[in-house]
Amino acid sequence: MPRGLVSHALVFSLLCAPEAGAAGVGSDEYASERAEMVSRQIADRGIRDERVLAAMRKVPRHEFVPESERRAAYRDTPLPIGEGQTISQPYIVALMTELARPASNHRVLEVGTGSGYQAAVLAQLVDHVYSIEIENSLAQRASEVLRKLGYDNVTVRAGDGYAGWTEQAPFDVIVITAAPDHVPEPLVEQLKPGGRMVVPVGPIAATQQLRVLEKDAAGKVTSTVVAPVRFVPLRRRDN
Ligand code: SAH
Repeated sequence: MPRGLVSHALVFSLLCAPEAGAAGVGSDEYASERAEMVSRQIADRGIRDERVLAAMRKVPRHEFVPESERRAAYRDTPLPIGEGQTISQPYIVALMTELARPASNHRVLEVGTGSGYQAAVLAQLVDHVYSIEIENSLAQRASEVLRKLGYDNVTVRAGDGYAGWTEQAPFDVIVITAAPDHVPEPLVEQLKPGGRMVVPVGPIAATQQLRVLEKDAAGKVTSTVVAPVRFVPLRRRDN
């Protein structure tokens, strides 16, 4: 009995998918825009990791932007998300995710939850994402969107991420999506031996350098510059 039902449902969704858009179960009205975003903006620019491409094809970016920006969600650009902050350009999210080399057993720390989109992309690929956001209203909104979409392996907390998340450390991967003017020492400490940190470093109001820090088994840290980038600054909270 279940077999017949399943195959019928499959045929139904296949028939509906091309034209029905959001009405079809498991599809949405932005699916084709998203597929095009991945192929033109991401794969064509050199992102090769199939798992990253699959995650970017799956996460509904339009759900993470304000209603007024929805139709722009799959464009090749960052977008405003409120509080003077932005969701990064899709290519940058893909690049940072690929550089992090996420694995399915990884525990990941993200600093700068913003909309929650980068956290959702990582959550497709790892065991758990812990994400810290300094703006209470953004932390709350991201947390709600992630819960609504079923990302139960993401935990968001409001606070200053400079100090990391000692209760959950150490982490296999740390991704920082706001730019500090130096690499925060507490975050280096919270990286596991063998772990990687992806971080844009540089002065406010200038181009920053996207860096990958690797901590070897002996705890020695090496840093590589990957690309010039432009992020909102990492801010500090006096507490
Ligand atoms: N990763 C986000 C984009 C982040 S924009 C996304 O996918 O949408 C950078 C975010 O970092 C902003 O929301 C900003 O409020 C936050 N931020 C800045 N300084 C911070 C700090 N010290 N700790 C935590 N979050 C911080």
